[in-house]
Amino acid sequence: MPYQNPPNVSLLETILPDEPLLMMGAGPVPIPAKVAAANSIVINHLGDVMAKVIEQVKAMARYVFQTDSQYVMGVAGPGSAAMEMATCNLVWPGRRVLSVVNGYFSKRLVEMAQRVGGEVTLLEVPDGHTADPAAVEAALKRGHFDVMTIVQGETSNTVWNRHLPEICRIAKSYGCLIIVDAVCTLSTMPLQMDGWGVDVVITGGQKGLSSIPGVSLIGFSETAWKQLMARNAPMYHWVLDARLAEQFWNKKAYHYTAPVSGVLALHEALRLVCDETLPERFHRHEQCSLALQNGVEAMGLKLFVPVEARLNSVLGILLPEGLNGDAVRRHMSQIHRVEISGAFGLNIIRIGQMGEQSRAHHLFRTLHALGSSMQALGAKLDLPAGVAELERTLTAPLAH
Ligand SMILES: *Cc1c(COP(=O)(O)O)cnc(C)c1O
Repeated sequence: MPYQNPPNVSLLETILPDEPLLMMGAGPVPIPAKVAAANSIVINHLGDVMAKVIEQVKAMARYVFQTDSQYVMGVAGPGSAAMEMATCNLVWPGRRVLSVVNGYFSKRLVEMAQRVGGEVTLLEVPDGHTADPAAVEAALKRGHFDVMTIVQGETSNTVWNRHLPEICRIAKSYGCLIIVDAVCTLSTMPLQMDGWGVDVVITGGQKGLSSIPGVSLIGFSETAWKQLMARNAPMYHWVLDARLAEQFWNKKAYHYTAPVSGVLALHEALRLVCDETLPERFHRHEQCSLALQNGVEAMGLKLFVPVEARLNSVLGILLPEGLNGDAVRRHMSQIHRVEISGAFGLNIIRIGQMGEQSRAHHLFRTLHALGSSMQALGAKLDLPAGVAELERTLTAPLAH
Protein backbone atom coordinates (compact mmCIF):
# COMPACT_ATOMS: atom_id res chain seq x y z
CA MET A 1 0.00 0.00 0.00
CA PRO A 2 1.42 3.45 -0.88
CA TYR A 3 1.42 6.01 1.91
CA GLN A 4 -1.08 8.87 1.72
CA ASN A 5 0.35 12.24 0.73
CA PRO A 6 0.89 14.62 3.66
CA PRO A 7 -1.60 17.53 3.81
CA ASN A 8 -0.41 20.89 2.54
CA VAL A 9 -0.78 23.28 5.48
CA SER A 10 0.95 26.26 7.02
CA LEU A 11 0.39 28.07 10.23
CA LEU A 12 2.35 31.31 9.94
CA GLU A 13 1.64 32.06 6.26
CA THR A 14 -2.02 31.22 6.02
CA ILE A 15 -3.77 30.86 9.36
CA LEU A 16 -2.29 33.36 11.78
CA PRO A 17 -2.69 37.07 11.00
CA ASP A 18 0.54 39.03 10.35
CA GLU A 19 -0.18 41.18 13.37
CA PRO A 20 -1.53 39.32 16.38
CA LEU A 21 -5.00 40.40 17.50
CA LEU A 22 -5.34 42.14 20.86
CA MET A 23 -7.34 39.62 22.86
CA MET A 24 -9.96 41.65 24.71
CA GLY A 25 -12.75 39.07 24.88
CA ALA A 26 -13.90 36.79 27.67
CA GLY A 27 -10.69 34.75 27.53
CA PRO A 28 -8.09 33.66 26.64
CA VAL A 29 -6.40 36.95 27.50
CA PRO A 30 -2.96 38.30 26.47
CA ILE A 31 -0.04 36.74 28.33
CA PRO A 32 3.05 38.66 29.44
CA ALA A 33 6.25 37.94 27.48
CA LYS A 34 7.77 36.30 30.57
CA VAL A 35 4.87 33.86 30.77
CA ALA A 36 5.28 33.04 27.08
CA ALA A 37 9.02 32.49 27.63
CA ALA A 38 8.38 30.14 30.55
CA ASN A 39 5.85 28.28 28.42
CA SER A 40 8.50 27.54 25.79
CA ILE A 41 10.54 25.30 28.12
CA VAL A 42 10.22 21.56 28.68
CA ILE A 43 11.65 19.98 31.84
CA ASN A 44 11.35 16.57 33.45
CA HIS A 45 7.93 16.17 35.07
CA LEU A 46 9.52 14.41 38.08
CA GLY A 47 12.73 15.09 39.97
CA ASP A 48 14.31 17.90 41.94
CA VAL A 49 13.72 20.80 39.57
CA MET A 50 10.05 19.97 39.11
CA ALA A 51 9.68 19.45 42.88
CA LYS A 52 10.89 23.01 43.48
CA VAL A 53 8.59 24.38 40.80
CA ILE A 54 5.61 22.55 42.32
CA GLU A 55 6.36 23.76 45.87
CA GLN A 56 6.52 27.34 44.65
CA VAL A 57 3.39 27.05 42.51
CA LYS A 58 1.50 25.76 45.56
CA ALA A 59 2.88 28.50 47.83
CA MET A 60 1.85 31.19 45.34
CA ALA A 61 -1.53 29.58 44.70
CA ARG A 62 -2.15 29.61 48.47
CA TYR A 63 -1.44 33.32 48.47
CA VAL A 64 -3.75 33.96 45.52
CA PHE A 65 -6.51 31.82 47.12
CA GLN A 66 -5.72 33.29 50.57
CA THR A 67 -5.59 29.88 52.21
CA ASP A 68 -3.32 27.71 54.35
CA SER A 69 -4.83 24.53 52.96
CA GLN A 70 -2.43 21.71 52.12
CA TYR A 71 -4.76 20.61 49.33
CA VAL A 72 -4.00 23.10 46.60
CA MET A 73 -3.07 21.59 43.26
CA GLY A 74 -2.83 22.08 39.54
CA VAL A 75 -5.01 20.36 36.97
CA ALA A 76 -4.05 19.50 33.39
CA GLY A 77 -7.07 20.83 31.59
CA PRO A 78 -9.30 23.86 31.15
CA GLY A 79 -11.23 25.60 33.92
CA SER A 80 -13.95 23.06 33.21
CA ALA A 81 -11.59 20.24 34.23
CA ALA A 82 -11.16 21.93 37.61
CA MET A 83 -14.96 22.29 37.82
CA GLU A 84 -15.28 18.59 37.06
CA MET A 85 -12.59 17.70 39.59
CA ALA A 86 -14.52 19.58 42.26
CA THR A 87 -17.84 17.97 41.42
CA CYS A 88 -16.73 14.42 40.68
CA ASN A 89 -14.79 14.13 43.93
CA LEU A 90 -17.40 15.67 46.23
CA VAL A 91 -20.65 14.59 44.57
CA TRP A 92 -21.84 11.00 44.21
CA PRO A 93 -25.18 9.18 44.09
CA GLY A 94 -27.29 10.23 47.04
CA ARG A 95 -25.40 13.48 47.68
CA ARG A 96 -27.71 16.47 47.70
CA VAL A 97 -26.48 19.53 45.84
CA LEU A 98 -27.85 23.07 45.84
CA SER A 99 -26.76 24.93 42.71
CA VAL A 100 -27.10 28.68 42.56
CA VAL A 101 -27.80 29.35 38.88
CA ASN A 102 -27.08 32.73 37.29
CA GLY A 103 -26.31 31.63 33.76
CA TYR A 104 -24.29 29.42 31.45
CA PHE A 105 -21.34 28.47 33.68
CA SER A 106 -23.36 27.91 36.83
CA LYS A 107 -25.53 25.56 34.72
CA ARG A 108 -22.41 23.69 33.66
CA LEU A 109 -21.76 22.93 37.34
CA VAL A 110 -25.36 21.64 37.59
CA GLU A 111 -24.81 19.30 34.67
CA MET A 112 -21.52 18.03 36.05
CA ALA A 113 -23.04 17.35 39.48
CA GLN A 114 -25.97 15.51 37.84
CA ARG A 115 -23.69 13.40 35.67
CA VAL A 116 -21.93 11.96 38.71
CA GLY A 117 -25.26 11.09 40.31
CA GLY A 118 -25.91 14.06 42.57
CA GLU A 119 -29.47 15.02 43.47
CA VAL A 120 -29.31 18.61 42.30
CA THR A 121 -31.75 21.35 43.29
CA LEU A 122 -31.52 24.57 41.32
CA LEU A 123 -31.82 27.97 42.93
CA GLU A 124 -32.42 30.16 39.90
CA VAL A 125 -31.45 33.80 40.19
CA PRO A 126 -33.52 36.21 38.06
CA ASP A 127 -31.65 37.68 35.07
CA GLY A 128 -29.48 40.65 35.87
CA HIS A 129 -29.59 40.01 39.62
CA THR A 130 -27.00 38.94 42.14
CA ALA A 131 -27.75 35.82 44.24
CA ASP A 132 -29.69 36.80 47.35
CA PRO A 133 -28.33 35.42 50.66
CA ALA A 134 -31.87 35.23 52.11
CA ALA A 135 -33.03 33.08 49.19
CA VAL A 136 -29.99 30.81 49.65
CA GLU A 137 -30.74 30.47 53.36
CA ALA A 138 -34.41 29.68 52.65
CA ALA A 139 -33.35 26.94 50.21
CA LEU A 140 -30.87 25.48 52.71
CA LYS A 141 -33.57 25.45 55.38
CA ARG A 142 -35.97 23.51 53.14
CA GLY A 143 -33.68 20.57 52.50
CA HIS A 144 -30.48 19.08 53.81
CA PHE A 145 -27.73 19.74 51.31
CA ASP A 146 -24.21 18.33 51.28
CA VAL A 147 -22.73 20.63 48.66
CA MET A 148 -23.51 24.05 47.17
CA THR A 149 -22.15 25.29 43.84
CA ILE A 150 -21.93 28.95 42.86
CA VAL A 151 -19.94 31.17 40.50
CA GLN A 152 -18.32 34.34 41.79
CA GLY A 153 -18.61 36.00 38.40
CA GLU A 154 -20.93 34.68 35.69
CA THR A 155 -18.84 35.45 32.62
CA SER A 156 -21.69 34.56 30.24
CA ASN A 157 -24.04 37.40 31.19
CA THR A 158 -21.63 39.50 33.28
CA VAL A 159 -23.39 39.16 36.64
CA TRP A 160 -21.41 39.35 39.88
CA ASN A 161 -22.47 37.41 42.97
CA ARG A 162 -21.37 40.20 45.23
CA HIS A 163 -22.79 38.64 48.41
CA LEU A 164 -20.54 35.60 48.14
CA PRO A 165 -18.90 36.08 51.59
CA GLU A 166 -22.34 36.14 53.25
CA ILE A 167 -23.52 33.15 51.21
CA CYS A 168 -20.41 31.17 52.24
CA ARG A 169 -21.09 31.98 55.89
CA ILE A 170 -24.67 30.76 55.57
CA ALA A 171 -23.60 27.55 53.80
CA LYS A 172 -21.14 26.84 56.62
CA SER A 173 -23.81 27.35 59.28
CA TYR A 174 -25.92 24.65 57.58
CA GLY A 175 -22.96 22.26 57.32
CA CYS A 176 -22.96 22.49 53.54
CA LEU A 177 -19.72 22.43 51.53
CA ILE A 178 -19.40 25.36 49.14
CA ILE A 179 -17.72 25.08 45.73
CA VAL A 180 -16.89 28.45 44.19
CA ASP A 181 -16.09 28.86 40.50
CA ALA A 182 -13.64 31.76 40.41
CA VAL A 183 -12.40 31.08 36.88
CA CYS A 184 -12.86 34.62 35.58
CA THR A 185 -12.56 36.51 38.86
CA LEU A 186 -9.53 35.07 40.65
CA SER A 187 -6.90 37.76 41.21
CA THR A 188 -9.16 40.42 39.66
CA MET A 189 -11.26 40.98 42.81
CA PRO A 190 -11.20 39.88 46.46
CA LEU A 191 -11.70 36.22 47.32
CA GLN A 192 -10.60 34.77 50.66
CA MET A 193 -10.81 31.01 50.74
CA ASP A 194 -10.11 30.63 54.47
CA GLY A 195 -11.56 33.94 55.60
CA TRP A 196 -14.89 33.33 53.87
CA GLY A 197 -14.97 29.57 54.49
CA VAL A 198 -14.88 28.47 50.86
CA ASP A 199 -14.44 24.67 50.57
CA VAL A 200 -13.34 24.45 46.96
CA VAL A 201 -11.93 27.22 44.78
CA ILE A 202 -11.78 26.55 41.05
CA THR A 203 -9.85 28.60 38.53
CA GLY A 204 -8.47 28.42 35.00
CA GLY A 205 -5.23 29.83 33.62
CA GLN A 206 -6.38 31.99 30.74
CA LYS A 207 -8.47 34.61 32.51
CA GLY A 208 -7.63 36.61 35.64
CA LEU A 209 -4.23 34.96 36.00
CA SER A 210 -3.13 35.83 32.44
CA SER A 211 -1.51 32.47 31.86
CA ILE A 212 -2.13 30.00 29.05
CA PRO A 213 -5.34 27.97 28.73
CA GLY A 214 -5.09 24.30 29.64
CA VAL A 215 -3.50 24.36 33.09
CA SER A 216 -5.80 25.20 35.99
CA LEU A 217 -5.74 25.38 39.77
CA ILE A 218 -7.98 23.95 42.45
CA GLY A 219 -7.95 24.17 46.24
CA PHE A 220 -9.85 21.96 48.71
CA SER A 221 -10.46 22.89 52.34
CA GLU A 222 -9.59 20.48 55.14
CA THR A 223 -13.33 19.71 55.53
CA ALA A 224 -13.81 19.01 51.83
CA TRP A 225 -10.71 16.83 51.83
CA LYS A 226 -11.95 14.73 54.77
CA GLN A 227 -15.22 14.10 52.94
CA LEU A 228 -13.64 13.02 49.69
CA MET A 229 -11.17 10.76 51.53
CA ALA A 230 -14.06 9.11 53.37
CA ARG A 231 -16.24 8.46 50.33
CA ASN A 232 -17.19 4.86 49.65
CA ALA A 233 -18.86 5.48 46.30
CA PRO A 234 -16.81 4.31 43.31
CA MET A 235 -14.79 7.01 41.53
CA TYR A 236 -15.17 6.68 37.78
CA HIS A 237 -12.67 9.40 36.90
CA TRP A 238 -9.00 8.55 37.02
CA VAL A 239 -7.20 11.70 35.82
CA LEU A 240 -9.44 13.90 37.98
CA ASP A 241 -9.33 11.72 41.10
CA ALA A 242 -8.14 14.19 43.76
CA ARG A 243 -6.67 11.40 45.89
CA LEU A 244 -4.43 10.32 43.01
CA ALA A 245 -3.60 13.91 42.06
CA GLU A 246 -2.48 14.58 45.60
CA GLN A 247 0.17 11.88 45.22
CA PHE A 248 1.84 14.08 42.62
CA TRP A 249 1.14 17.51 44.09
CA ASN A 250 2.08 16.67 47.68
CA LYS A 251 4.14 13.49 47.54
CA LYS A 252 6.31 13.81 44.40
CA ALA A 253 4.93 10.55 42.98
CA TYR A 254 3.83 9.90 39.43
CA HIS A 255 0.14 10.30 38.63
CA TYR A 256 0.14 11.45 35.01
CA THR A 257 2.76 13.48 33.14
CA ALA A 258 2.12 17.02 34.28
CA PRO A 259 1.89 19.63 31.49
CA VAL A 260 5.34 20.90 32.45
CA SER A 261 5.53 23.87 30.08
CA GLY A 262 2.09 25.03 31.14
CA VAL A 263 3.00 24.63 34.81
CA LEU A 264 6.08 26.79 34.20
CA ALA A 265 3.88 29.40 32.51
CA LEU A 266 1.50 29.29 35.46
CA HIS A 267 4.45 29.65 37.85
CA GLU A 268 5.53 32.81 36.06
CA ALA A 269 1.98 34.18 35.91
CA LEU A 270 1.53 33.59 39.65
CA ARG A 271 4.90 35.16 40.38
CA LEU A 272 3.79 38.29 38.54
CA VAL A 273 0.64 38.36 40.70
CA CYS A 274 2.76 38.02 43.86
CA ASP A 275 5.07 40.74 42.59
CA GLU A 276 2.19 43.11 42.05
CA THR A 277 0.44 42.01 45.29
CA LEU A 278 -3.27 41.27 45.45
CA PRO A 279 -4.43 44.68 46.79
CA GLU A 280 -2.60 46.48 43.97
CA ARG A 281 -3.93 44.06 41.41
CA PHE A 282 -7.52 44.44 42.61
CA HIS A 283 -7.11 48.22 42.48
CA ARG A 284 -5.78 48.12 38.91
CA HIS A 285 -8.63 45.91 37.77
CA GLU A 286 -11.29 48.04 39.42
CA GLN A 287 -9.90 51.29 38.09
CA CYS A 288 -9.54 49.97 34.55
CA SER A 289 -12.93 48.28 34.47
CA LEU A 290 -14.76 51.33 35.84
CA ALA A 291 -12.94 53.59 33.39
CA LEU A 292 -13.96 51.37 30.48
CA GLN A 293 -17.56 51.18 31.75
CA ASN A 294 -17.73 54.97 32.05
CA GLY A 295 -16.13 55.41 28.64
CA VAL A 296 -18.61 53.02 27.01
CA GLU A 297 -21.55 54.85 28.60
CA ALA A 298 -20.22 58.33 27.81
CA MET A 299 -19.97 57.27 24.19
CA GLY A 300 -23.72 56.59 24.21
CA LEU A 301 -23.89 52.82 24.76
CA LYS A 302 -25.67 50.94 27.55
CA LEU A 303 -24.25 48.29 29.85
CA PHE A 304 -26.27 45.10 30.18
CA VAL A 305 -26.32 44.60 33.95
CA PRO A 306 -27.38 47.22 36.53
CA VAL A 307 -24.49 48.51 38.59
CA GLU A 308 -25.45 46.65 41.80
CA ALA A 309 -25.06 43.24 40.14
CA ARG A 310 -22.46 44.15 37.54
CA LEU A 311 -19.28 42.12 37.16
CA ASN A 312 -16.11 44.15 36.68
CA SER A 313 -14.08 41.29 35.20
CA VAL A 314 -16.16 41.08 32.01
CA LEU A 315 -18.33 43.91 30.61
CA GLY A 316 -21.57 43.16 28.79
CA ILE A 317 -22.54 45.93 26.36
CA LEU A 318 -26.00 46.11 24.79
CA LEU A 319 -26.00 46.36 21.02
CA PRO A 320 -27.69 49.52 19.69
CA GLU A 321 -30.85 49.06 17.56
CA GLY A 322 -30.06 47.61 14.18
CA LEU A 323 -26.44 46.62 14.86
CA ASN A 324 -25.36 43.02 14.50
CA GLY A 325 -22.85 41.82 17.11
CA ASP A 326 -20.98 39.53 14.73
CA ALA A 327 -20.58 42.37 12.22
CA VAL A 328 -19.21 44.69 14.92
CA ARG A 329 -16.78 42.04 16.10
CA ARG A 330 -15.66 41.24 12.55
CA HIS A 331 -15.02 44.93 11.85
CA MET A 332 -13.06 45.31 15.08
CA SER A 333 -10.89 42.29 14.23
CA GLN A 334 -10.28 43.10 10.59
CA ILE A 335 -9.75 46.84 10.78
CA HIS A 336 -8.51 47.43 14.33
CA ARG A 337 -6.99 44.03 15.18
CA VAL A 338 -8.94 43.90 18.43
CA GLU A 339 -10.85 40.76 19.32
CA ILE A 340 -13.85 40.85 21.69
CA SER A 341 -16.58 38.29 22.45
CA GLY A 342 -20.17 37.73 21.53
CA ALA A 343 -22.52 36.18 24.05
CA PHE A 344 -24.43 32.97 24.49
CA GLY A 345 -27.60 34.03 22.69
CA LEU A 346 -27.87 37.43 24.39
CA ASN A 347 -27.98 40.67 22.40
CA ILE A 348 -24.69 41.87 23.88
CA ILE A 349 -21.00 41.94 23.15
CA ARG A 350 -18.47 41.32 25.90
CA ILE A 351 -15.12 42.91 26.72
CA GLY A 352 -12.83 41.30 29.27
CA GLN A 353 -11.06 43.05 32.12
CA MET A 354 -8.91 40.19 33.34
CA GLY A 355 -5.17 40.25 33.95
CA GLU A 356 -3.25 41.90 31.12
CA GLN A 357 -6.48 43.21 29.59
CA SER A 358 -6.63 45.78 32.40
CA ARG A 359 -3.91 48.07 31.05
CA ALA A 360 -4.60 51.69 30.07
CA HIS A 361 -3.09 51.40 26.57
CA HIS A 362 -5.30 48.39 25.79
CA LEU A 363 -8.39 50.25 26.99
CA PHE A 364 -7.86 53.21 24.68
CA ARG A 365 -7.30 50.97 21.70
CA THR A 366 -10.32 48.81 22.52
CA LEU A 367 -12.73 51.67 23.19
CA HIS A 368 -11.65 53.38 19.99
CA ALA A 369 -12.01 50.16 17.98
CA LEU A 370 -15.47 49.57 19.43
CA GLY A 371 -16.79 53.07 18.83
CA SER A 372 -15.21 53.45 15.43
CA SER A 373 -16.50 50.06 14.22
CA MET A 374 -20.03 50.74 15.42
CA GLN A 375 -19.99 54.12 13.69
CA ALA A 376 -18.76 52.53 10.48
CA LEU A 377 -21.77 50.21 10.69
CA GLY A 378 -24.19 53.11 11.14
CA ALA A 379 -24.48 53.77 14.89
CA LYS A 380 -24.58 57.35 16.17
CA LEU A 381 -22.05 57.66 19.00
CA ASP A 382 -19.91 60.33 20.63
CA LEU A 383 -16.53 58.62 20.48
CA PRO A 384 -14.45 61.61 21.68
CA ALA A 385 -16.67 61.92 24.77
CA GLY A 386 -16.10 58.23 25.51
CA VAL A 387 -12.33 58.52 25.20
CA ALA A 388 -12.31 61.67 27.36
CA GLU A 389 -14.31 59.89 30.07
CA LEU A 390 -11.99 56.88 29.91
CA GLU A 391 -9.01 59.19 30.47
CA ARG A 392 -10.79 61.06 33.27
CA THR A 393 -11.73 57.92 35.22
CA LEU A 394 -8.34 56.31 34.73
CA THR A 395 -6.60 59.24 36.35
CA ALA A 396 -9.16 59.99 39.09
CA PRO A 397 -8.84 58.38 42.53
CA LEU A 398 -11.33 55.56 43.17
CA ALA A 399 -14.37 56.53 45.19
CA HIS A 400 -13.49 54.35 48.21
C1 LIG B 1 -14.33 30.50 31.30
C2 LIG B 1 -15.10 30.03 32.46
C3 LIG B 1 -15.26 28.68 32.73
C4 LIG B 1 -14.74 27.59 31.81
O1 LIG B 1 -13.39 27.63 31.64
P1 LIG B 1 -12.75 26.77 30.43
O2 LIG B 1 -11.29 27.00 30.59
O3 LIG B 1 -13.34 27.31 29.17
O4 LIG B 1 -13.15 25.37 30.65
C5 LIG B 1 -15.97 28.32 33.85
N1 LIG B 1 -16.50 29.24 34.67
C6 LIG B 1 -16.38 30.55 34.45
C7 LIG B 1 -16.99 31.51 35.40
C8 LIG B 1 -15.67 30.99 33.34
O5 LIG B 1 -15.53 32.31 33.13
